[in-house]
Amino acid sequence: MTTDFAATRAMFQLPEGVIYLDGNSLGPLPRAAAARVARTVTAEWGEMLITGWNKAGWMALPSAVGDRVGRLIGAPPGTVVMGDTLSIKVYQALASALEMNPDRRVILSDTGNFPSDLYIADGLARTLKDGYTLRTVPPEDVEEAIDEDVAVTLITEVDYRTGRRHDMKRLTKIAHAKGALTVWDLAHSAGAVPVDLTGCDVDFAVGCSYKYLNSGPGGPAFIYVAPKHADAARPALSGWLGHEAPFAFDLDYRPGAGIERMRVGTPPILQLAALEAALDIWDMATMDDVRAQSIALGEAFIAGVEAACPDLTLASPRDPEHRGSQVSFRHPEGYAIMQALIARGVIGDFRAPDILRFGFTPLYIGMEEVTRATEILAEVMQGALWDRPEYKTRARVT
Ligand SMILES: *Cc1c(COP(=O)(O)O)cnc(C)c1O
Repeated sequence: MTTDFAATRAMFQLPEGVIYLDGNSLGPLPRAAAARVARTVTAEWGEMLITGWNKAGWMALPSAVGDRVGRLIGAPPGTVVMGDTLSIKVYQALASALEMNPDRRVILSDTGNFPSDLYIADGLARTLKDGYTLRTVPPEDVEEAIDEDVAVTLITEVDYRTGRRHDMKRLTKIAHAKGALTVWDLAHSAGAVPVDLTGCDVDFAVGCSYKYLNSGPGGPAFIYVAPKHADAARPALSGWLGHEAPFAFDLDYRPGAGIERMRVGTPPILQLAALEAALDIWDMATMDDVRAQSIALGEAFIAGVEAACPDLTLASPRDPEHRGSQVSFRHPEGYAIMQALIARGVIGDFRAPDILRFGFTPLYIGMEEVTRATEILAEVMQGALWDRPEYKTRARVT
């Protein structure tokens, strides 16, 4: 292993006494992000005002940062651009892909997908009318469900609840053999598992930066378009910054070259500054090391919890090859158990109806924390410490 995880860990600001196992939902603060954002605010926005778009290079940031994200997901320079939220990027990728396969009407997804992806797909199908439909099947049935009616597969590689991981290469190959295009959602893959978009011959991919990439709440999403499609894909959200010449202010839309056309409107410069600081830490790590260490942490957690907490049922695949970087357990009182854990400094999260979710993020979590988290969970379970009214009232965000 060449990655120095003690060094990467020192780059994050983590509150005293907290074991943070929720970096799969919101990554922690990279220490350098505070100063980096402050500099963008005072020295750039404060001093340069609107000239910052040129002088500070703001306008080029979405693709410059996109290239850095691309390195983590096997995408060559010039194929990834940042902007908007993931839900919007799902819409864009899906709409473009559907238009490129005009004789077919089915969007195929699975019931393990994140609801926003399904809602967006359903909403788009309704807008398009003309026979478009969203077909969802159980995750294990996706392969068989790819038939000659499927225009586009919309699959999230790693299941947000269970961590179950689809075989991207295999499913993409099958989809292509049946004449379908592929949109892969990397929300729980980018920064969690090695991804090889080029090697898997993926058509479109999207993902977010505030989970494993640590860009902070509301950080921008990314979209990847395969080079072979880049100049053919028509962006359904044809905003001015995706235009070939935004400052010509033409009345007609002409898509920009390649991935630039997937830009929509004004980019979030402060969030991109935070993401740049976060990506400096990623430059210190290799994805293979991160993956090997995340498997070691996940395996230790499963062994520890199963030995001490017989009432918790593993919800994630047991084979680490078939899961992402999170481990989930089921329990009917999962919400209260998670609140009891959080009250004791172990932060994971809960996903309805009964899932306790723990993310393992080697950049800042080590074996010591996994051991300690296992001990605290064992105390909570063995003493039924979760069984208190204040742990059972659901908050707005779970
Ligand atoms: C986290 C997540 C989202 C969230 O979308 P936003 O628009 O960023 O809120 C969407 N899809 C998947 C698969 C996710 O895991």
